[in-house]
Amino acid sequence: MVGPCIKNHIVYDRGRTEIMKTAIQSVLGLVIALSVILLVRVSIFSPPTTDDVEVLSPAPASVVQRLAKSLTFSTTSGRHLNPAAFRGMQDWMRAAYPRFHAVTSVERFAEHSLLFTWPGRDSSLRPILFLAHQDVVPIEEGTETDWTHPPFAGVVAPCEDEAGQCVWGRGAIDMKAALIGLLEGAESLAASGWQPERTLLFAFGHDEEVGGVGAQEMARALEKRNVRPSWVLDEGLLVTQGITPGITQPVAYIGVAEKGYLSLELVALGEGGHSSMPPPSTAVGRLSRAVARLEADPFPAKMDGLSAAMFERVGPHMPFGLRLAFANQWLLGSVILDKLTAKPSTNATVRTTQAVTMFSGSLQDNILPQRARAVVNYRIHPRDSISTVISRVRRVIDDDGVTVKPITSGLMSEPSKIADVDGVGFAAITRSIRSVFPSAIVAPGLFIAATDSRHYSGIVDDIYRFHPILMRPADGKRIHGTNERIRSDNFRQAVRFYETLLKEGAR
Ligand SMILES: [Zn+2]
Repeated sequence: MVGPCIKNHIVYDRGRTEIMKTAIQSVLGLVIALSVILLVRVSIFSPPTTDDVEVLSPAPASVVQRLAKSLTFSTTSGRHLNPAAFRGMQDWMRAAYPRFHAVTSVERFAEHSLLFTWPGRDSSLRPILFLAHQDVVPIEEGTETDWTHPPFAGVVAPCEDEAGQCVWGRGAIDMKAALIGLLEGAESLAASGWQPERTLLFAFGHDEEVGGVGAQEMARALEKRNVRPSWVLDEGLLVTQGITPGITQPVAYIGVAEKGYLSLELVALGEGGHSSMPPPSTAVGRLSRAVARLEADPFPAKMDGLSAAMFERVGPHMPFGLRLAFANQWLLGSVILDKLTAKPSTNATVRTTQAVTMFSGSLQDNILPQRARAVVNYRIHPRDSISTVISRVRRVIDDDGVTVKPITSGLMSEPSKIADVDGVGFAAITRSIRSVFPSAIVAPGLFIAATDSRHYSGIVDDIYRFHPILMRPADGKRIHGTNERIRSDNFRQAVRFYETLLKEGAR
């Protein structure tokens, strides 16, 4: 009786081995097929081809002294506005850039904002608009002595932590480098007798850092005249180095969209009274639950549209592992998203972010709160809008006892439209970048702060936000911070960039 049973076992085992063999073979086949697909995709994952551009030498060294001079005018805005500083800088600009002033006409808006028009030969062509703001942010109280060189002295001195000379001072990056860079570029073109084919407009606001009334008035004036620029260049993303993972060469990001801005006020009401006889939960407790729900359920992160366009250009230059992942997003997309969302700076580029910034209850420790209030600040990704954010927040909180209202007294703006990555403006900016930063990779990007350019969205579709300033990881804190500065040779490149772009744009 034992025999047949063993025989059966042997037959059964043989069958099982066969099945196992087939299974292993199929799995192996699948793995090989998958590897082939992954490798083929990575091998054809290459950046878009670009035409050759002539590499230009930096502008003459003399431009550096004029940038330094512009930093001596303490053109802070808002409640720190100093009219004499603006008048002083504008008088100096007239004297320092006589050819530019001779070929342009100028109009004044909101007292200190200036709109220059350089008429083109062909008035039927749509103009190009260049934006820069004359104002700078103030020096935070108590930090004045932390500066290596005084913030409004316009000092050109060694950079200290790296080789070469730097121009030190508030506004060196944000954004007198662009204001003076544009003036220098235009001055040298005007001096050479060059004339633009299409009209060039220069709108130099004076209060960008505090909302941009000047820009709003200039935009309204252009709108009334039915001026519809072909495209606009404003400050924004930079030429980064050592910031994009795995890439050592510079990456110039052209901001093609800007995030929206919204603050929501969350309020929960309570009975009030003495805290010696409290209910199980107070208004603060209820509001805390709402906040906890929001934080537990952030806006979804995605690799679509703009992010996809960006990595299409940057991805091919990454080391093999990352390149493999970006070339095969159909399979590895979630791995990439996990990496991107792990860091606040990259997380902000793939989703609408939320930050609970304010929270208050009662005024004293033994008083029950009648009203608890929280403020949540949103930076809205172009795929969302103010209304979709509000309705999602209400849905996630899911509590009728908590009211959600937008704060309309401060800044509130929809995310911008996305400018055309295949447009003439993008191409002109790209060529101008490559003529001064020949090794740079150029890619579109999302600007996560707000600029004056949003006020022009009614008259132009393609707004590009780019500043030809080389930014290394340690430089980020200098913008609006202590020891703002720009490398002298970088400013000379910036001047050449603007000069080239004026020519490229005016064609
Ligand atoms: Zn700025």
